[in-house]
Amino acid sequence: MTNQPARAVGDGQLFIDGKFGPSDSGKTVEDINPATELPICQVAWGGESDLDRAVQSARRAFDVGPWPTMPGKERAGVLYRIADGIEAAAEDLALRETLDVGKPITFTRGFDVRAAAEIFRYYAGMVEQLEGAARPAGARSLQYTRREPLGVVGAITPFNFPLNLAVNKIAPALAAGNTVVHKPAEQTPLTALKLAEIMAEAGLPEGVHNVVTGDGATVGAAFSVHPGIDKISFTGSTATGKRLIAAAAGTLKRVTVELGGKGANLIFDDADLEAAVQSAFQAAFFNTGQFCMSGSRLLVHRSVHDEVVDRLAAVAESVPIGDPLDEATVLGPLAHRAQLDKVIEYVGIGLAEGAELRSGGSTGHEGPGFYHQPTIFTGVTPEMRVAQEEIFGPILTVLPFDTDEEAVEIANGTPYGLASGLHTQNIRRAHNVAAQLQSGIVWVNTWAQFENSTSFGGYKSSGYGRELGPEGIEEYLQYKTVYINVD
Ligand code: NAD
Repeated sequence: MTNQPARAVGDGQLFIDGKFGPSDSGKTVEDINPATELPICQVAWGGESDLDRAVQSARRAFDVGPWPTMPGKERAGVLYRIADGIEAAAEDLALRETLDVGKPITFTRGFDVRAAAEIFRYYAGMVEQLEGAARPAGARSLQYTRREPLGVVGAITPFNFPLNLAVNKIAPALAAGNTVVHKPAEQTPLTALKLAEIMAEAGLPEGVHNVVTGDGATVGAAFSVHPGIDKISFTGSTATGKRLIAAAAGTLKRVTVELGGKGANLIFDDADLEAAVQSAFQAAFFNTGQFCMSGSRLLVHRSVHDEVVDRLAAVAESVPIGDPLDEATVLGPLAHRAQLDKVIEYVGIGLAEGAELRSGGSTGHEGPGFYHQPTIFTGVTPEMRVAQEEIFGPILTVLPFDTDEEAVEIANGTPYGLASGLHTQNIRRAHNVAAQLQSGIVWVNTWAQFENSTSFGGYKSSGYGRELGPEGIEEYLQYKTVYINVD
């Protein structure tokens, strides 16, 4: 395993009213490369007054315009140019994401950056299709609906997919005519700042998009109570989401929350086992398990349980783990130290609860970097904490089942409901089980397949609201009804 020295990517600053600049306090913090534990650069540490400046800038850009009232063709044109700009800066963005998150460079190039450009194009294409409706209102009046933006959108994002999760919010919010203040996760702000530069160069008017870096407890919490923010779109943990919703009630702002998950992946006895194992491995360990939609609970029919576990362990023990800048790497480090500490703690919790360690279980590595082996627990029962709580790291819990009914009961038996999946060659079973699984997305004989046209979001404690697809832009629009008396 190599640990390349940190590469400088430039000191981060806040982006407010179309300009980069320091925070009011002048305070900065080191942004740490999780693969080397060396600083990448200094990032501005914003505070409440910085957020207030950003909201005022977004407020002006919304109230004075021209963004919300710009003809659709022109607004779409800016969004298309942003997509082009993302592609032109692809290598810079991919490098930033890899240095910041520890995600393999092949993946940040092949997915994160490519998808970011595609999402801007998808919503650019929707701008000119935001139609209202004429409704029957009798011969003497005319009634129609207008679909209007909400105003200033506060976008708060987590550390695991910094660019994509930001674009999932920013692109539809802008397409609908809103202005935005974005707070990226404190651990991974680098692509958000580059995106701001790209958007300004694409011709986005000043103030329409602002970025305030800083921590959740001060800047993040200030979003909830700021009267100038009309809507918050939040992605993060369920615990933070609940706090945010409660705090936002005082200003009655709209809130949508994309929260945590504990996805169940079901392998039935009639599944194509080789394909199911490959898929289950990716479902559990992709992005080193830091994936809200991970299949971190694998439910396997008892008759194929041992074979599945043996095959999975063989994949886990041979997967290339290491330097995320190396194109051969499949699994990089955890994104920050607290995340590694949490994984180590949950290995201890699983062992203390009586689960059996089938594979992994340690960092498996000497020297710097927040690495941890892909870890598989068997002998897990549904009520164990390792089977109930979101770990957000490379730990897979395997649970046996005997009947379809039992599989569904275990799958639905956590507070979460973000993603689930099943592997079977029986179409009736696929359809019936998919209908019974309580989650916002169900994958059959695959995992983590996304299209920009297909929305995702949570059931139960995984949140509410949808991102991507036509549903994604609805979260940033409101309806107005106009009656005209033509008597
Ligand atoms: P987190 O909740 O700790 O932080 C998320 C963001 O919220 C960060 O920007 C943080 O600074 C900010 N924040 C913290 N406290 C805040 C407060 N009081 N008010 C407002 N903002 C605050 O989550 P995390 O550890 O960064 O990310 C991991 C979590 O995100 C996991 O639970 C994961 O499942 C979830 N997630 C969900 C989705 C989804 O689409 N449902 C996608 C990715 C990650």
